[in-house]
Amino acid sequence: MKFPKAIKRYCPKCNKTTNQKVSQVKSGKKRSSLKKGSLQRGHKRGRGRGYGNMGRWGSKPTKAKRMGAKQGKNVNLKYQCTVCNKSSVATIGRAKKFELKQG
Ligand SMILES: [Zn+2]
Repeated sequence: MKFPKAIKRYCPKCNKTTNQKVSQVKSGKKRSSLKKGSLQRGHKRGRGRGYGNMGRWGSKPTKAKRMGAKQGKNVNLKYQCTVCNKSSVATIGRAKKFELKQG
């Protein structure tokens, strides 16, 4: 997907349509508590050892093969108003490739 670097968009602060700069930002999703480090620590301390999924401790539940998994990632864009410098973030949908183009 190609997207212009600057667009005209409504600004709630100015209460009118203004020119706004566009930049890509990360989604801000946080890592879960059971990531590699804490899994290793738990394993050393004797949690998550044995058969089965240990009441789901430290291992993921058995799951059917993911059919039709998503191909792209959600794109988050930051729009910054050139008049008042206020910015807002919006998700524009999924894309495999994303780039900001001139104009
Ligand atoms: Zn504004």
